[in-house]
Order: sequence, then structure tokens, then C-alpha cells
Amino acid sequence: MTADRNDELFAHAREVIPGGVSSPVRAYGSVGGAPRFLASASGPRVTDAAGAEYVDLVASWGPALLGHAHPEVVEAVREAASRGLSFGAPTEGEVELADLIVQRVRAGAAPPPSAPLSAPSSAPLSARPPDAAETAGAAGGPGPDARSRAAASAPVERVRLVSTGTEATMTAIRLARGFTGRDLLVKFAGHYHGHSDGLLAEAGSGVATLALPGSAGVPAPIAAQTLVVPYNDPAAIEEVFAVHGGRIAAVIVEAAAANMGVVAPLPGFNAALADLAHAHGALLILDEVLTGFRVHPAGFWGLQQDAGERYVPDLFTFGKVVGGGMPLAALGGRADVMDRLAPVGPVYQAGTLSGNPLSVAAGIATLRLATPEVYERVDAAASVVASALASALTAEGVEHAVPRAGSLFGLAFLPGAPRDYATALTQESWRYPPFFHAMLDAGVALPPSVFEAWFLTAAHDPAALAAVVEALPAAARSAAAATPPA
Ligand code: PLP
Repeated sequence: MTADRNDELFAHAREVIPGGVSSPVRAYGSVGGAPRFLASASGPRVTDAAGAEYVDLVASWGPALLGHAHPEVVEAVREAASRGLSFGAPTEGEVELADLIVQRVRAGAAPPPSAPLSAPSSAPLSARPPDAAETAGAAGGPGPDARSRAAASAPVERVRLVSTGTEATMTAIRLARGFTGRDLLVKFAGHYHGHSDGLLAEAGSGVATLALPGSAGVPAPIAAQTLVVPYNDPAAIEEVFAVHGGRIAAVIVEAAAANMGVVAPLPGFNAALADLAHAHGALLILDEVLTGFRVHPAGFWGLQQDAGERYVPDLFTFGKVVGGGMPLAALGGRADVMDRLAPVGPVYQAGTLSGNPLSVAAGIATLRLATPEVYERVDAAASVVASALASALTAEGVEHAVPRAGSLFGLAFLPGAPRDYATALTQESWRYPPFFHAMLDAGVALPPSVFEAWFLTAAHDPAALAAVVEALPAAARSAAAATPPA
């Protein structure tokens, strides 16, 4: 195999594109070498500009749940394209896609809890917050009445389609601020919610890969509106609410963290966040851009419902799978919150290409094809690779963890699964570049950063899985032989 054409393209790309890439992690910055410029993809495989084929464990960073270029999805896009690329007007497809999202999340909801929604959940925070009636809803926030409304109705009643996950989270935050009349936002260290101002503080993978503290170009007064809290640390978030509770508009959390490697929430953590936010009149934004419709028909939230967790976020954000590989994302939530969006409400949001007919067609086709059997296949494929990965590293005596959140898993060169960002950063990340390149040389494309999740698809058939499993022992040997940077 030759990477020559990739080298040539990378050299040319760097002359006309900053760093040669349209999104930073693609640049192979943390693993070295020229990124593979992809020419085509089909099922579980991608082909680069030099004609080399790889079994792909990136899956376009999540969207390719069904595998690349699923014929029915491609046909849906082709058919939509034949009718026009963009109208800037409402279409029937948007209604269908929004409806599919509402139905999927509703179907994932557990029966209404017997206890009130504000009651402590299975693993409550260490202390109950002050009386909800005292603190909630001062500026139209979700007081106890709103919470029972939320329990009674579908978790997602209205959906707004946008083009990227960044737009979805940015809009959800503006909406939460407009709804509550408050400014502060709480996010967790190592969680990534896109690249809007104020969300880049301790933002996980891309930022961690580049060893940036955050981003230049974000004005300090904007950054100051974001409070960054360690993940999976109930005492820390309680303290933040104790100090700032009345000024917090929302808590935003990845449904399961997957941008610092994979770090699942502790049992009860997300539910406790909902309780705490609601008790203080703040909203919970569950960011399912990465996990939504990927790990379960109703996202990570649906997986948690199945596991007996009971909580209702006020807003959800979706991306990746919901657009089936085309630029599409969404936010959704309770009608009383969502109806604050323009044109019905005063919170402005708009987009020339929002609800683009090609993206919508891909999203509808993907969600329709994503049956329970698809999720079973992806889960099973993930189990095969995750256990082969662990065995290969164990055989070479390399300290590692393979943390999982549904079908998502990651690799951490740590003795145990990290619980938060600070721990994830302590790993022997220098073992990853040789590991990554050994896999690439063997025809397996992994995410080019140890802080990214590995993505399986329903198209990873036994032959593709066997290729990954066969490549792992040599890669594990490379990781074992790696030495720390001087
Ligand atoms: N939220 C999460 C959890 C993500 O993983 C990402 C992207 O990876 C985003 C938001 C931003 O989405 P996009 O890259 O489409 O802007």
C-alpha cells in the first residue's frame, strides 16, 4: 500500500486550507503522518486517494450507523436531489422527520414514575437541594407544575431542525437562557458540545488532542458565563448550584461522555442532574448529538430508561445519525420551552439550509432502517472488537481500560476506566500513535486520537470484524514497545 497520493494531497491541502483539513482532529496531529484522504466508502470500509482500503471504525464520527452509503439511504438522497437541492421553504419531509424523532423518544420513555419527578433518583446526590417551590421558576423556569407537565407529556414534543450539532447546542443554550431569563451555563470538563463561544472550555477530544486550554478568540466575558464542573462528581455540581443556583439557566451534559474517550455517567448521575437543575429553576440539556439514535432507538436516554433510570431532560440535542451522514442536527423538547423559539417566541434562531431536503431524506431513511435488529448487530460487533482489544493489550501486559457506553467504547491507557476528564488526561497517551499506525498499516482505520470513541456499524460483517481482530495483536505489541516522549 502506498500513502504517496495522501502525502501529495496533504501538502497541497496545507497550502489552501489551514492545517490541510476542514476539522482539526482529521489532521492526524496527535498520531503523526499524513491523514488518509478518503475517496469513497461502502459498508464497513473506506478507500483512500491512493486506492488503499481500510475497515473503518470512525463511521464518519458516528453518523454511519447502517454502514457507509447504505443503498436505500443513497437512493433516498438521489431521489430528493432530483426534486431540488434546497427550497428555503417548509417541506413535508421535515414534518415526517420531526415526527419520527418525537415518536422514537416517546417510545423510549419508561412508564411514568410512581414517585414525583422531583424525588431523588436511584443514586441521589449527596444531599437534597432546597425546597423546589422556593427556588424554581422565578423567571418562567420549570417549577414543580412544569415538572409534572413534563412527566405527563412526551419528553420531546417539538423539534427544530438545524444543520450541525454545534448549532443545536448553541440554540438549546440560547433557548434555555431565554426561557429562564438567566445567563449562566454549567458544563462538564471534557465534554464537547461543538465549537460555539462559551462551550470550548475544557472541551475534550479536539482540544485535548491539540493540548489547547480552550480557544483563542473567545471574549473573557463570554467564557465567564460558563461554569465548568468535574464530571461524575455529585458534590461539585451541588456546590455550584448552592453558590450560583439562582443565576443558572441550564446544565448541558453529554448523555454519555464520548469526547474524552468514553466515560459513562455514574448510575443516577444524569437523573440527579435533572433533579438538581429543576429544583433550582434551571433546565437540563441532554446532548445526544453523538449518542442519539446510535446506542439505542431512543438514544442514551432510552438506554438509561431501559436500565430503570427515571428523569426527563427539558431539551435534547441530536446530530450525526439523525442526518444519516448528511448535514443535519436537531433540538427538541417540551412544547412550553420549544415554543419560545421564533417565530412563536422571542428566542431567535434561523438557517438558510435548515431542514435541507437532501439531509432530511437521508435522516428519514436512516431512522426508518434503524430497527432494533440494527442496534443488536452494532452492539454485538462492538462487543467483538472491545473484547479482542482488551485481550490483545492484556496479552502484551499493557495497562488499559476499554470503557463502554452502550455500543460506544474507547481505549484508555489507564489501569481502570476513567471517571472524569482529569483522570482521562493522565493516561499514557503516547502509546496510541504506534498502536494507531500499526492498525492503519494492517488496513484498519481507527479514530486518530486516543480521546475519541470507536464506532461500529450494522455493516461490520464477520469478515470486517475478523480483519480488526487479526490486526490487534501486532498493534498491541507496538503499544507495549512505545516509550514516553523525552
Ligand atoms: N455535541 C456532541 C456530544 C458532539 O460529539 C459533537 C461533535 O462531535 C457536537 C455536539 C458538535 O456537533 P457538530 O460537529 O455537528 O457541530
